[in-house]
Amino acid sequence: MRYELMLPYQIRQAIAGNWPVVLPLGVLEYHGEHMAVGMDTLAVTKTLELLEREMDLVILPAFYYGASSYAVEPPEGNGSVHVDAGKLFPLAEEMFTGLLRVGFRNIHFFIHHQSENFAAGMPTDLAFKFAARQAIFAFLAKERGEGWWGNKEMADYYSAQARAADPFNWIKGHPLLTPEALKSYPFDHAGEGETSLMLALCSEAVDMARHDQARWYTGSARQASAQTDAKGRDLILAHMRDVLGKRWRRPGRSAGQGAFLSPSP
Ligand SMILES: [Zn+2]
Repeated sequence: MRYELMLPYQIRQAIAGNWPVVLPLGVLEYHGEHMAVGMDTLAVTKTLELLEREMDLVILPAFYYGASSYAVEPPEGNGSVHVDAGKLFPLAEEMFTGLLRVGFRNIHFFIHHQSENFAAGMPTDLAFKFAARQAIFAFLAKERGEGWWGNKEMADYYSAQARAADPFNWIKGHPLLTPEALKSYPFDHAGEGETSLMLALCSEAVDMARHDQARWYTGSARQASAQTDAKGRDLILAHMRDVLGKRWRRPGRSAGQGAFLSPSP
């Protein structure tokens, strides 16, 4: 379900069912002459729309204003919009605090932009990861008081980690493509990998007639193929099913029912 279209009773139902609540996190960045600037974010939103047809899921409005950086091209006439990570952090902390106050305890963000080494992190995901940690600490201190961790009710803290029940699992960040997926799928910027993904997920964001061979990083886009397209999409879907907990849609509730999904292209 799209969060912005949910009624309060549906939000309460999602909280009671501990549905995954997912923030598509991304940027607006130049992706060659042949691809739309929203590519990194669209890759997340379009995959989530496919996943929403098979499982209970709350999709938050996408956040497009990450730290794109101007490393690829300057913004003038090219379209990249960069927001510094130091500015993103307080905003993200407030967003996560708000979601915790609503009652969600199964919050996730997925990011594709600069996620080729997600464990080390890059400015946008690091800002949101840090914000998630700070929001959880502050929320717990406010709700339970100082010394909450030392209380005897927390005696199962370490075993709770194994069950994914500890509070630091309330908000988790994930790369769109896992290190495992990257062994068999090309990661690039506006090359074969990203162009294929867009062709599979959002073909209106690609116009190969505009392809410009002059830039090194877009050269391989010509090799984008139907085979690569489906492979990337399926790798991402499998990963999302895995981390969101395989919470399949309850029987009797058809895909899109109350979900306000736009028709598939
Ligand atoms: Zn990209």
